[in-house]
Order: sequence, then C-alpha cells, then structure tokens
Amino acid sequence: MTSFNNDGRFTGKMRTGAEFLAGIKNDGRQVYYNGELVDDVTTHPAFAEGAKTIARMFDIASDPANADLMTYKSPTSGNPVSRIWQIPYSVEDLKARRGALERLSEESFGYFGRSPEHVATFFVGFASEPEVLAKNGRQDLADNCVAHYEFLRDNDAYITYTIVPPQIDRSKPAHQQEPSDLYAGVVEEREDGIVIRGAQMLGTGTVYSDFVQLSTITPMRPGDENYAISVSIPVWSKGVKIFSRRSYADGANSMFDYPMASRFDETDSLLVYDDVFVPWENVFVYKDTDVARAQWFEGPAHVMGNNQAQTRFVTKLRFMVGLAQKIAEMNGVDKLPPVQGLIADLALHAATYEGLLDAQIAKAAPNRNGVYIPDKQITYAAMTQQSRMYPQFLDIIRELAGGGFIQLPSSVQDFDNPDMNNVIQKYIQSPNMPADERVKFMKLAWDCIGSEFASRHTSYEKFYAGAPFIVKSHLYREYNFGKSKELVANALAGYDKKGRIDLPTSAIEKAS
Ligand SMILES: Cc1cc2nc3c(=O)[nH]c(=O)nc-3n(C[C@H](O)[C@H](O)[C@H](O)COP(=O)(O)OP(=O)(O)OC[C@H]3O[C@@H](n4cnc5c(N)ncnc54)[C@H](O)[C@@H]3O)c2cc1C
Repeated sequence: MTSFNNDGRFTGKMRTGAEFLAGIKNDGRQVYYNGELVDDVTTHPAFAEGAKTIARMFDIASDPANADLMTYKSPTSGNPVSRIWQIPYSVEDLKARRGALERLSEESFGYFGRSPEHVATFFVGFASEPEVLAKNGRQDLADNCVAHYEFLRDNDAYITYTIVPPQIDRSKPAHQQEPSDLYAGVVEEREDGIVIRGAQMLGTGTVYSDFVQLSTITPMRPGDENYAISVSIPVWSKGVKIFSRRSYADGANSMFDYPMASRFDETDSLLVYDDVFVPWENVFVYKDTDVARAQWFEGPAHVMGNNQAQTRFVTKLRFMVGLAQKIAEMNGVDKLPPVQGLIADLALHAATYEGLLDAQIAKAAPNRNGVYIPDKQITYAAMTQQSRMYPQFLDIIRELAGGGFIQLPSSVQDFDNPDMNNVIQKYIQSPNMPADERVKFMKLAWDCIGSEFASRHTSYEKFYAGAPFIVKSHLYREYNFGKSKELVANALAGYDKKGRIDLPTSAIEKAS
C-alpha cells in the first residue's frame, strides 16, 4: 500500500486532531458545494466544525492519558494503535473494543454515524475472515485487503464507504442501466490497475476521510460483473468528485441556535468516480458477483460493522432520554405519573436496546480463525428494531415538550436588544431554569428532535443499514427457526383425534 503520494500524512503512528486536519487540508480533494469547488474543507463554513469534531476524536484516541481505553499494540509494528482496528479474539476483547467505540460516540452524542470507527470496523471484519474474499481462487485479492487493513490501522487512517448504487432506476440491474457508466464500475483494465467510472451513493463523512471504499452491498445479477468490485481509493485521487448535500452547519445562523447542526453535521455526498485509477494492491474484489455479496454476509464484516453502529446508537438513546427527563423537570411535570410513564417508555426502548448490545457481545462465538463475532440473531433483531423505534422515540419527546420548542426567541441576537431581552427573561423561564439556560437547552433539544438536521437523522437511522425491508430480510435469514419448528412439532405430537398422547420424552424428541 505505498503507491500513492500521501504528502507525509501517514507516518506509521497514531495522529492527533491537528495532524488529521493537516492531512485533509488543501490535499487536492474535490468537494463541490453551492456551485463551487471548495478550497479547504477544514476552514469552509459548511465543513469546518464537522472537521473539528472528527479532530477531537483523533485527539481522544491518541491522548496518552486514554491509552488503556483507546489503544492496543499493533501485532505488526508493535506501536500503539486505536482499538477501533482491534480484531477481537475473546469476549473480553469485544468489551474492550466497545469501551473505545462508546467513548468516541460520546464525542458527538451518537450523532456521527460514519466517524472513523465505522468503516474501520467493517475492515476488521474483512481481515477477520479473508477466506471469504479468497473463496473463488483470488487469494491475492484477499491478501491485498488484509495488507490494506494493516496499513489503515498502523497509520491511523480514516476510511468511509459508498456501497449503494445511485437511485436512478431500481427495476434494472447495474449492467442494464443506460448509459452503462451510471453505476460505478470498471471501464478499463491495465497492467498496473483498473479504471473506474460512474457514481455511487452516499458518502457520509467522505468530505473528511482519507480513503473511500467503493463496493456494492446490494445483490448483483449475472452480467453485473463490471460493477462487482471492492476497492479503496485515496479521497484526494484525481477524478474523485464529491457532491455534498446542503450543509446544515452552513444553514445554522449560530452555534447557540443550532448547537447540533453547527458542530455535528457529518455531511452526505454523491460520489462521482470520473476515470479514477486504482492500483491492483487496492483491489479486494474483482468482477465477482458472488464474492461482492459474500464479503458482507458470509464473513463477519456486516455483523461487526453494525455492532459498532449499535454501540453509537445506544449513546444516542441515552442522550435523548436525558433530554426528555430535563424537559419534564424544567416544566415542573416530572413528578406526574403520566409524564413518568412517557419517560419510562423511552427508558424501555433505551434499556432494551442496550440489553441487545450486551447480549450480542455476551453470546459472541468464534469463527474459523478464532475471532469472536457478535451474535447474529441479536444484532439483526436490534437493527430491525432501530428503524421503527427511532421515530417513536422522537414522537414521545415531542409530546413531552408541547409548544416549548416553538415558544423560543428567533435567534441569539434577540438577547442583545434590551426590550426583547426583558421579555425573554420574564416569560421564557422556569422556576429552576433562568431564561438564558432554558432557551439554550430548548434550542439544543429542537436541533435533536425537529430541525432539518434532526430530520436527516430520522432518514439516517431508517436507512443507514439498508432499507427496512432489507434489514428484516437479514433477521429472517439469521433467526433460529429450527427451535420454533421443534416446539410446534412437539405441540402437535402431544394429541390426536382421541385426545392426549402421553409420550415419553424420547418419543417427543423423535417426533420433532
Ligand atoms: C442519511 C443517509 C446516509 C447514508 N450514508 C451512506 C454511506 O455512508 N454509504 C453508503 O454506501 N450508503 C449510505 N446511505 C445509503 C443507504 O445505504 C441507502 O439509502 C439504503 O441502502 C437504501 O437504498 P436506497 O436509498 O437506494 O433506497 P431504495 O433501494 O431505492 O429503496 C427505497 C424504498 O423503495 C422500496 N423498495 C425498493 N426496492 C424494493 C424491492 N426490491 N422490494 C420492495 N420494496 C422496494 C422500499 O419501500 C424502500 O424503502 C445513506 C443513506 C442515508 C439516508
């Protein structure tokens, strides 16, 4: 993994936030925004605060004071590396990983989905069972993937992914889209690598990352071979074009008015690969529709990656329960049984979800290489629950808040006008919360529940792991129907037209 010019950003050591920012500053990445090419994502108003949030995560991971929580020793270099790359060889390792993932998620209160630990965990999955990538005879590509995983780990790199084709015409497979270079695929094969052309959605965080993985998670059909790839591309490569949606940070008139949007917009982008050259060493799946699918589901990658996502989600739920409780206390209704009932509904969701995360780790089992993989049935049950639970969660908090979200000053500037300030201080306060504090808190809560930033999060939690019907299909695949069928068979074996059959236990087992 040396055939690209990294401008000195990777030195084989963990990076501070400042080093991360220096790496992505003016590195040639092409981010398109508001009709222009962005000069520098670390200073542009649409992206600067998001970049700082990620920089904080690098600072936390590399701080020697956090070494036990956040790092372990690289098996190849012997240097400390972030636990987000740790391959877990025991339940204890999984718990240690979880501690680091949880600490990172707390930096954005669970609102950064594609922060550095997300796709890193998928690569932990790929490297934990490279046999899946080699299954059709391409050991060389599996070796490339493991080497890339080690490179990312030992250099503290940040990788995101685009693994869903753009939403153009879902009724046709990749190779029947017209023209043929709509979906990102191989347009040229060379001795030293391949050339990619086409688009892919949705590069969350890609405006900030060092690398982007281009692959496809949706099923492919015969004829789709050109699109059945997995590669990793430096984001600053020639031809990588990042078209960002509107930044909510850019739309926020102040941090006080939009404290979440202004600091925690991870951004989502349409990625266009415009004749991007990828050297062979960065190719992990090549023109193989079977392995392109298997890489996610036959090995541990999808379960591992979603275990990280669910760790983040638990942080978000805990945070939102805190918002709800504070709203009730602020309005002096927290002692009322119906209000406590609503908050208990939130606690039920949060505690159940946390229990599912605990259980998927406690029931983890080793794969063929001795790597401990979180329990699949529980992971997919949690994932299915998430997309339907999140809107209910928001709705309960909205119910608790009444019109309090709306009865707020138009902006922080209202405090500067003495007449307006007098009104705010008198009428927008609570017994235990003076006006400044109340307005600050309610603007925070609105940015989590009702703003455009909040609404994007409802889409994110519904779709980040695939459309809900796809997520349910994973649970259908992994649920233990054998035991359920056995119980039904036993129930039927216990009677006939004449009534109860007192079978000995052994006969009941035989009947099942
Ligand atoms: C905020 C956000 C961030 C994201 N970040 C990333 C990212 O970082 N990287 C990445 O790769 N992707 C990302 N995604 C994309 C995400 O993975 C996709 O949105 C998801 O896989 C669903 O695909 P789609 O949006 O194309 O929806 P579609 O596949 O077009 O489905 C939309 C709806 O159409 C219906 N439908 C479609 N096909 C069928 C069918 N065959 N049978 C029955 N019903 C069907 C269903 O009702 C479905 O919910 C992100 C998405 C969001 C919303």
